[in-house]
Formats: sequence, C-alpha cells, structure tokens
Amino acid sequence: MLTDNEITKQCQTKDIREITKSLNIDEQFLIPFGRDITKINIDALKQKSKQKNSKLILVSATTPTPAGEGKTTTTIGIGQAFTQLGDSICLALREPSLGPCMGMKGGATGGGYSQVLPVERINLHFTGDFHAITSTNNMISAAIDNHVFHGNALNIDPRQIVWRRVMDMNDRSLRNIVLGLGGKMQGTPREGGFDITAASEIMAILCLTNSFKDLERRLNNTLLGYSYTGEPVFVRALGITGALLALLKDAMHPNLVQSLEGTPTFIHGGPFANIAHGCNSILATKMAMHHAEWTVTEAGFGFDLGAEKFFDIKCRIAELDPAAVVLVTTVRALKMHGGMDKNHLTTVNLEFVKQGLDNLDKHIESVELFNKEPVVALNRFADDSDEEIAIIRKHVEAKGILFAESNHYTEGGKGSIDLVEKIKLAAAKSQPFTSMYDLDDSVFDKISKVCKAMYGAKDIALTKDAERDLHHVQHLQLEHLPICIAKAPSSLSDDPLLHGRPRDFQVTVRNIQVNAGAGFLVVLTGNILRMPGLPKEPSATKIKLLESGEIVGVS
Ligand code: ADP
Ligand code: MG
Repeated sequence: MLTDNEITKQCQTKDIREITKSLNIDEQFLIPFGRDITKINIDALKQKSKQKNSKLILVSATTPTPAGEGKTTTTIGIGQAFTQLGDSICLALREPSLGPCMGMKGGATGGGYSQVLPVERINLHFTGDFHAITSTNNMISAAIDNHVFHGNALNIDPRQIVWRRVMDMNDRSLRNIVLGLGGKMQGTPREGGFDITAASEIMAILCLTNSFKDLERRLNNTLLGYSYTGEPVFVRALGITGALLALLKDAMHPNLVQSLEGTPTFIHGGPFANIAHGCNSILATKMAMHHAEWTVTEAGFGFDLGAEKFFDIKCRIAELDPAAVVLVTTVRALKMHGGMDKNHLTTVNLEFVKQGLDNLDKHIESVELFNKEPVVALNRFADDSDEEIAIIRKHVEAKGILFAESNHYTEGGKGSIDLVEKIKLAAAKSQPFTSMYDLDDSVFDKISKVCKAMYGAKDIALTKDAERDLHHVQHLQLEHLPICIAKAPSSLSDDPLLHGRPRDFQVTVRNIQVNAGAGFLVVLTGNILRMPGLPKEPSATKIKLLESGEIVGVS
C-alpha cells in the first residue's frame, strides 16, 4: 500500500469554493486561507438552514492503546461513504495540537485513504487558532503579573494565582517554574508554570461558546486566583476583556477543508480529552449541521473520557443529541486489553481477542447508560485475520448490537459503506439521550456517578487538597457546574497500567479546579499532567523540509 504522503500527493483537491457551494454557503461568509482552506464566518448560522432534519453521529472508541484506535480515520471513512452514497454530509473534527504532532502520536489528519487535506498545513499552523488561544491565555498572565508589579490594587496574592501560562508544545521543563527573578524591576518572584494550549481554559471556552456575546461573558467569568483576604479575582477585574475578544476574533470562525474524496470537513478547536473536554467547537458542529443533513463528529480518547464529556458537557450546553454512536475498536486493541504484549500484537491469537472483549463490553454498556445503542465499527488493520474479526462480530451480534467491519484505511469511503448502512439503521430508532448526572447533584455525587457508572469504580476518595478545593467551589457557589474529569486515557481506571475491564478499584480525586469561564469543574485524578513531555524518539525527528519546499513526515 502507498504511504500516507504518496496517497495525498496523488489527490487533486477541489477549490474550496466548490466545497462551500456544495454546502450552499454564501460566498460573503468565506474567509479564505489559500485555495483549499477557508474559515466560515459564524454569521452564516444566521441564514435560514435548508436542513430540516439534521442528524449528528458521534464516533468514539474502546480504551485506547498506544497506536490510536482510528477514531479520526473512521470518522473520515464514514464521511466519505456518505459522500459516495450521494448523501448530504459534513464532518466536524478537532484541530491537531503541535505537542502530539511533534511528540509521540504524530499528526491527526487521519491515514491511508481516509485523510483530510492539506495535511501539513492542518497539522502545523493551520489558520492560527492555536496561536490566538495561546496569546489570549498569555495576555491574561502578563496582565496579572503586571498588575501585581504596578501596586497590586486588587490585592492579588501571588501565591494563590491559579492562572497558568500555556504553549502548544510538549515541554516538561516548563511544568513548574519560578517567575520574576532578577530584582526589583523584573516583577514579583512567584511559582508558576505552563500547560499545553489544548488543556487551557481558553481552548475550552472557544469550543463551548456560541457567540461573541457569550464569549465575552465567559472570559469575564474566568477565575484567576485569590486576594490576600481569600476573595476570588476574575478576568473582568483586569479590564482587558476587549483585547482578549480582539485576539480571539478570527479564531471564532470554524475552518473548512475537505477529505481525499471531497467530503466537507470543519476542523475547529482541539481540547484534549484526558485533561479537557475532548471535542471540537460547538460552533463547528452547529455549522456542519446547519449545512448538511448528516454530521459526523469525534470524541476521544475512549468513550469513558471523551464521549461522557461530549454528552454531559457539550450536548447539554449546545442542546445537541446524536442520532447514533459509533464505537470504534480494533483487533490489536482488544488483544492488548486481553493481556497480549504490545510488541506481539500483529500475531494472530484468538485467545487474547476473546479475553479483551470485556473492555468492549464495558463501553457498549456505557453507551447504553446514555440511552443510546452503539454501532460497533471494527477498524481493520492489514495483520488482522478473518477468524479474529469473526469472534468479535459474533460476540457483538449475539447481544443484538449492530456491527460492521470498516476498511476505510485501505479503500476510502467504499470500505465504510456497510458501516454507514448500520449507522442509518441505528439513527432510525434513536431515543433522546439521558445524562449521567443532574446539575443539581452535589459535586461529590457527580464525580461518584461518573466514576462508578462510566469507569466501573467501586468508590471514590478525595485527598485533603481535593476537599479544600471543594470548599472553594462551595464558597464560590459553583456547585451547579458540570464536571470535566481528568483521567489516564489508557485505562478505564485512574491507573494507566490497568487494561481490559478493571474492577473493584477506587478513584482518587487529587484536585478540583474551577473553570468558571468554560463553565465546568476540572476534577483531577491520578497523576494527570496538563503539560505532556516528548518521548525519547519524538515524531519531530521524522519531519523534513525538502528542497522542493515540500514538507514530509507529518502524518
Ligand atoms: P485516533 O483518532 O483514535 O487517535 P487515528 O484515526 O488518528 O486514531 O489513527 C491513529 C493512527 O493509526 C494514524 O497514524 C492512522 O493513520 C493509523 N491507522 C488508523 N487506522 C488504521 C488502519 N486500519 N491500518 C493502519 N493504520 C491505521
Ligand atoms: Mg483522533
């Protein structure tokens, strides 16, 4: 099979205006970035929609293993299959972060015959949204330290500033730093640190907002820290909200590109799902649904992290309700959950597949807890045997659950036609979703319900720090907010090394952080870092700029 790069090179993309025409988007709303990328002004949402019965499909997955399960490629494959069937379709995906692109995982534009283009631009700087979010975040940081330097009228306690700087790179050395060293003219020394942009509250705010008015409200409500007397200090006190809105103005408009087979794809907003809420912007999803009958979107990592937040945070805020849920799994992932060594996953082994099925079972049950029935999509890899796949199919179908093998990686949209037919069957009998918890529940109950129902925990325990945080939340009267749990993605539990379906475990809550602007409480479990590090051999070592000007190795 050709490499990802060879495949994209063979593809002659359409002028992006052909794509916008196919979606009936008026030219006045285009903000083009060259021939094959355009932003669409959110004012397009004010035009009357031709879509009376727009349906949203959510793609999530079983617990991820190091290679990635193929949610993005499957989402693109599904989109391309809809296109081949002549349906009105649009995708809504997350924007890649430079951190994983340069680090362990590589880019996030799909693979094989299911990719979105232009790969290098989307993965590297794209339309500058991440830059705008980073700058907005750091404008706030600079304003806080500047305020303290110039007399500190707000009486901000430098030891209680919770707002951190961000950058879009995996840089572990910046996790904890001391700022303001060097004497009187260099600011007030204090501890601080950097998170990755994808974990920032500004990213979450951009992804959850629906208008500039709402954006302004959310920015103003963002908590920065506490005064010496223990009173909260919010962004509105700095008087820079106008500047923040100006910095985010262009980033608000969703980006439109196309797949290898010309399927329209919005790519906008990129919060991680282990440390943030894990799905593309509400504006991009709405924009896709406004212009197409079918919209397919992705929430990762596994269903327990990304999809729970998709339902309990995003769908609640945006009043969305997916017509179908696709659960992507792979033979190799189930073998790893069954206990197989990760270096032997390409060897055929029916026993390990069977033993790994309980991870899939848990996720099927989790989908059902939201009153949805999943379609299980088996993303086929070249080394998978028919026997291994037959075991999974039989197991799933015996439960009365829809199953389809998907060959989008090797065949493009054609390879996902069967999957799309199953999706349509599921969508035809979809029921309204039910949330995992009520907003009126206590914070403890909310956490407890998600940990028990979604992760399979026996109970939860709060550290002393978390209990203190909970008091702050009560003091701020923010107990009604939904929760965004930060947890290891590689396990259903908070211990990253427990594969399969762990049972009888306790989830330890270390901290509860207030993201009043985003409108949720971040619940930190285990040792979740908000700034990843690079691996020993980062993907960055494979990226080259050729003399021709072509970039290779980003995929
Ligand atoms: P996720 O969205 O779940 O993180 P991706 O769709 O980005 O996963 O896929 C992760 C990686 O695995 C990508 O490099 C992709 O090209 C590769 N991949 C996905 N599906 C297949 C497949 N069927 N065969 C080979 N490689 C695949
Ligand atoms: Mg992905």
